[in-house]
Amino acid sequence: MSKGILLVLSGPSGSGKGTILGEYGKDHPLYFSVSNTTRGPRPGEIDGVHYHFISREEFEKKIAAGGMLEYAQYCDNYYGTPRDKVEEQTAAGMNVMLDIETQGAKNVKKSCPEAVLCFVVPPTMEVLRRRLTKRGTEDEETINKRMNQAIEEIRQIDHYDYVVINDDLPDAVADFADVVATAQMAASGEELSEEQQAHLRELKEKSSALKEKIKKEFLL
Ligand code: 5GP
Repeated sequence: MSKGILLVLSGPSGSGKGTILGEYGKDHPLYFSVSNTTRGPRPGEIDGVHYHFISREEFEKKIAAGGMLEYAQYCDNYYGTPRDKVEEQTAAGMNVMLDIETQGAKNVKKSCPEAVLCFVVPPTMEVLRRRLTKRGTEDEETINKRMNQAIEEIRQIDHYDYVVINDDLPDAVADFADVVATAQMAASGEELSEEQQAHLRELKEKSSALKEKIKKEFLL
């Protein structure tokens, strides 16, 4: 049995990563890694489903015990991927998805170079602010912090293999599905047909062009 692939999805809070993943996961088998975090739950978030909500002390104990595949500090809180489940699931042939920020993504690529990194962006900064405000779960100060953090995350876009713009949700889900299918094909170890190789090249070129466009629009 071949190992499952490790997919890393990043993008600013409010970019719609979670929604894309939810839609994609409806008809594709995928194991979503549930992260540990020290931030408190938002209304509607369930412990063990959206995150494992733990104390700073517990988090630091897990780091020391080598239990985190990666971790990072983001907006004053720790976030980290528990190592055991990821290793267990990929070994069982399941594709594993991590929804993590850029520092963690870079660390995953360092320890697992075969991981596939995909970045989701909103079409504009205005749309991002509107989405964060509409969510209604954060105050103005937190929203401003997250907007600044978004710029910092977009600065890391060159570390990613693929880029998806989340303007229209069904289009973004279809683009994401294409990325996963293509990455899986490339990782299969089987010889690719000319058509498959051309598609892989086309997708990489599309992502490179999107990176340049995004850097121009978001990073003045
Ligand atoms: P939020 O507080 O909006 O749920 O998440 C804030 C950021 O932390 C998001 O960019 C999310 O992708 C990232 N994040 C969630 N879990 C992890 C994790 O396990 N590791 C890392 N490095 N980032 C994470």
